[in-house]
Amino acid sequence: MRQITVEKTSSRGIAAAPAYLYQEPDLSAAAYCITEEQTENEVQLFEKAKQKVSDELKLLAEKNQIFAAHLEIAEDFTFSDGVLSRIRNEQKNVQLALQDTVEELALIFDSMDDPYMKERAADIRDIGKRFMAQLKGVQRPDLAQISREVIVVAKDLFPSDTVKMNPTYIKGIITEEGGITSHVSIIARSMGIPALVGVGKLLDSLQNGIEICMDAEAGMICIEPDHDTIREFLQKQEDFEKRQSYLKKLRSQPAVTRDGKRISLCANVGNLEDIERALPMNIDGIGLFRSEFLYMENDHFPSEEEQFQVYKAAAELCPKELTIRTLDIGGDKELSYFDFDKEENPFLGWRAIRISLDMEDMFKTQLRAILRASAFGHVRIMFPMIISLEELRAAGKLTTRCMEELEQEGLEFDRNIEIGMMIETPASVMLAEEFAKEVDFFSIGTNDLTQYLLAVDRGNRKVADRYSYFHPAVVKAIAKIIAAGHKENIKVGMCGEMAGDPDAVLLLLDLGLDEFSMSAGNADYIREKILNL
Ligand code: PEP
Ligand code: MG
Repeated sequence: MRQITVEKTSSRGIAAAPAYLYQEPDLSAAAYCITEEQTENEVQLFEKAKQKVSDELKLLAEKNQIFAAHLEIAEDFTFSDGVLSRIRNEQKNVQLALQDTVEELALIFDSMDDPYMKERAADIRDIGKRFMAQLKGVQRPDLAQISREVIVVAKDLFPSDTVKMNPTYIKGIITEEGGITSHVSIIARSMGIPALVGVGKLLDSLQNGIEICMDAEAGMICIEPDHDTIREFLQKQEDFEKRQSYLKKLRSQPAVTRDGKRISLCANVGNLEDIERALPMNIDGIGLFRSEFLYMENDHFPSEEEQFQVYKAAAELCPKELTIRTLDIGGDKELSYFDFDKEENPFLGWRAIRISLDMEDMFKTQLRAILRASAFGHVRIMFPMIISLEELRAAGKLTTRCMEELEQEGLEFDRNIEIGMMIETPASVMLAEEFAKEVDFFSIGTNDLTQYLLAVDRGNRKVADRYSYFHPAVVKAIAKIIAAGHKENIKVGMCGEMAGDPDAVLLLLDLGLDEFSMSAGNADYIREKILNL
């Protein structure tokens, strides 16, 4: 038995299950030249791999269209021909021939101007990995395929991995890297999956299937627990469930302090399922709909109609405030179908509103869909990562253009739709007074604001102890933002994870925060805190 203590818990809960090690195996080619006699053997290896990849993809294609497209590419003549001619004419072994073919094809797509064609480069590379795994006889892990109870242990998890998780089977998450405001933590919290992140080196000392108990209340992981420890964990689990049912009983009460101040409690969500999970928490609305998850769950940029259907369903599900944040992709959030060039500093790079403003058609598609959905509920638009008035005005201008188009087309929308912005960059704090004159509301994004103000990566374990939204610089920034908003009579909310931290409630109330928006999993705890203040 081995125990590991973890300083910070990222999503509460107690879990016990076998480990599922989520590790991408080494898929680089064993590269060498072959003799003429070896040629046919290498060709045979390729044909066998192709058969297996096709079988695999046929099964997957029944569930998801993206794999039907992958199957077509895998069986395409150009692809096979590229590999076979490298084996036959260039005496390359099959793994090297495959690697070179994949890279050549991916680069062709990469260099195309049409965004749709560009996106295919990522598909080609993915298919290449599938072939290589067959050739090397290794298994690639896939969270979407898990159909038994497990605790996932990974170096790190990215939003594109976590969107595939089924909480019925994934009982817990442990990652070596990551911080409590990294996106894996946020997603775990909204799905109600216990998570401990940034625990340090672990994978190398574990085997798949080894028993693990995790206490994401106290911050404890136990590997191969003995009988006494299992009993102890079962007791903790029982206590945890009792506390949960007590908190559940409090839900019927509105969030009012003992001296009568009514606090607006909202949820952060990424999709319709999250809204369904959040509504029973008796929330006052959705303070943040992370629309990028809709893009990540797809195999293509979702069309206006596809987005409209989702936003409309969200507005109907949640007739109270529904704040849809426009696409915040980039940073650690990638799209499987769009190749972002590798950046030295992705969190300081091509991200969020910068991408939207550079890809105007795509941005308009989203704005039109949100506007159309505003005819079905109390929808608000929110722009992420704004650093200048020019950006805000450009986004606003495009929104007005979309409104004019919809008007001409006779399509319904809310002409008085509120337009707000996230305050999550130091520049937006410095200009908060100016911004407050031009928007209907602010929402403070402490996850990014903390990392940008303190120059501390939100997902880097090595600096996790320096990452704190209680740092006086962050607190002073929050005070300044709230004062600037109130001076112009606009509401100031917070959708960063600080809003879901019971230890921050008193401070934020004192600073005058109007709305707390958090991962739904935290709402019960915040309500309890408010009721006792
Ligand atoms: C934030 O930065 O605080 C925020 C809410 O946005 P995200 O976590 O999606 O970057
Ligand atoms: Mg952010």
